[in-house]
Amino acid sequence: MSIKRVGFIGLGAMGLPMAKNLLKSGYELHVAAHRNKQPVEQLKSEGAIEHTSLVELVSNSDVLISILPTDKEMESVLLSDDVLSNLSKENVLVEMTSGSPEMMKNVHAVYQKKGIRVIDAPVSGGTAGAQQGTLTIMAGGEEAVLDEVRPVLDAMAKQIYLVGAIGAGKAIKAINQMLAGIHMIASGEAVALAEKLEIDKEMVKQVIGNSSGASWMLMNKIDSLTERNYEPGFKLNLMKKDIQIAVNEAKDMNLPFASNALQMFKDKEGESGELDFSAISKDILS
Ligand code: NDP
Repeated sequence: MSIKRVGFIGLGAMGLPMAKNLLKSGYELHVAAHRNKQPVEQLKSEGAIEHTSLVELVSNSDVLISILPTDKEMESVLLSDDVLSNLSKENVLVEMTSGSPEMMKNVHAVYQKKGIRVIDAPVSGGTAGAQQGTLTIMAGGEEAVLDEVRPVLDAMAKQIYLVGAIGAGKAIKAINQMLAGIHMIASGEAVALAEKLEIDKEMVKQVIGNSSGASWMLMNKIDSLTERNYEPGFKLNLMKKDIQIAVNEAKDMNLPFASNALQMFKDKEGESGELDFSAISKDILS
């Protein structure tokens, strides 16, 4: 299949810059506004085609990409009649939400019955990676289908890994997020202690950056933590959702760090859910 037309659902902190990169790579981009009209206006000014309904958007797409907040939106959008009735064997769904493996498998089962091919393709790399087109994609599904959509994914990502069957992408993403949430809490504590002990931030970066306590999270979040800048980025309520997926998948296994991290994110969700997930350290850094 020669892919020309890409439909994109979920134009948020991640989706908007990812969609811009598709336009830059020459794809015909099809979008529709949800509640917020601004991303569609921006994309239109860069050449995207706006539709007034999901039906129209889906009907005009070879490949459909979705990157929605949670399982709930995956279910309500991807299993809706508007989307399902307008996709056929010619189409591929590239599902990039950080959702649960179970929801991904449910969506796939329904699509498979209609002969619609699916790739499970959550991402890592944050909004910076989305803007720069350097995301990591953790794919689940069939290699032949992945190869078919690879040129589209190349416009948004630097690394694309085929991890296993449908659901394996969401599973490894949940493991990554479990680590990222724990590392975020640990990084906040490290910055708080460095401030109390009057260790200069640049010294922390240089010395710990070259020592065994270093982490991607500490190196990438130390500046915003010391500035007490909690602008998202990646919202705290989405991180809670991700750690919840990991803990749910663990079932009766005991994961003490993940369970504690989940409780901490739950406790903060009401007050700071819409802030960046680094706001988990707000109290300790106040
Ligand atoms: P945002 O909350 O910024 O964006 C979500 C987008 O989905 C919005 O554009 C929203 O539109 C749209 N949306 C919500 N419901 C619907 C619906 N029913 N139909 C159509 N569109 C809908 O989230 P992010 O972009 O930050 O995250 C998206 C996913 O990517 C999440 O699963 C997250 O965990 C994951 N992720 C996020 C990263 C980050 O750094 N932010 C990094 C890696 C993965 P509207 O605003 O108009 O309602």
